[in-house]
Amino acid sequence: MTPTADLEIVMCISMHPNQAKQTERPAGAERPFPWRCRHCGKNEVVMATVSYDAEIRHDGRVYAFTIPHLALPICQVCGERVFTVKVDEQISAALRSHLRLLSPEEIRAGLERLNMTQKEAAERLGIAEATLSRWLTDAQIQSTALDKFVKVFFAFQAVREALRSESNDPQRRSPFLR
Ligand SMILES: [Zn+2]
Repeated sequence: MTPTADLEIVMCISMHPNQAKQTERPAGAERPFPWRCRHCGKNEVVMATVSYDAEIRHDGRVYAFTIPHLALPICQVCGERVFTVKVDEQISAALRSHLRLLSPEEIRAGLERLNMTQKEAAERLGIAEATLSRWLTDAQIQSTALDKFVKVFFAFQAVREALRSESNDPQRRSPFLR
């Protein structure tokens, strides 16, 4: 059996870097600067761009890396940093990029390219539909192992076919066993 690589999809995955595309979170929720500092009480919290040394626990391991340009609100008086949802999104994107994980946009594009619903993809991958949904809304970052699995799933027609027959008929002998 020769697996057919869907090269178009592989290229599509590698050609889209982590875009800071906005998710469906409510817009306009941000108050105008300067903000009042929760630490020193001064109205001196403004937007700044800093080099940030992140240490993030993911998938049972701690990853340390530097984010060269993190945009976050900082108090000009005491240096207090404010970690908003937008800051968290940047850190998540940086972790994804550091680990070379698929971004929500890349996963979404892969599903669209295959014309596959989230339900169908989740069934074949053997994960809960809610899990896939959390990856797509950036509420959760997939493990490195599952990320590799999804990449293989997107790239090889033969893998998708074998997974379909396995999930369709659990009584039958798995196509992965010889
Ligand atoms: Zn302050």
